[in-house]
Amino acid sequence: MSDVSLEKVKQELLERKRELEEKLNKISTEKVSDDQTGDPGDQALSSSMESLRSSFQNTETEEYKRIVKALEKIADGTYGICTDCDQPISPKRLEMYPNAERCLTCQEAYEEQQQLS
Ligand SMILES: [Zn+2]
Repeated sequence: MSDVSLEKVKQELLERKRELEEKLNKISTEKVSDDQTGDPGDQALSSSMESLRSSFQNTETEEYKRIVKALEKIADGTYGICTDCDQPISPKRLEMYPNAERCLTCQEAYEEQQQLS
């Protein structure tokens, strides 16, 4: 991967990182205001909203972590290398998933393993 496109990826990741930071901050602020309403009629709704939000927050947090990792890899020059087989990840895949840690083959194997456990 050339330096130019790597720089572009880095900018995109930094931008996405900022977006996620804002979202995650907002989520934690909203949580506090929810606790203060205290209307019993809203509790069922509020608790399902809560679980929805926490699963959303998990997804966002996971993405945030992957972006931080990808930025670290850019910094130490290992970006675009599969963490499992040390082979370069295809540029097409990186274009779609700039924070991909594995090549397609290893990712599929990894996901299969996750489902089994
Ligand atoms: Zn691999």
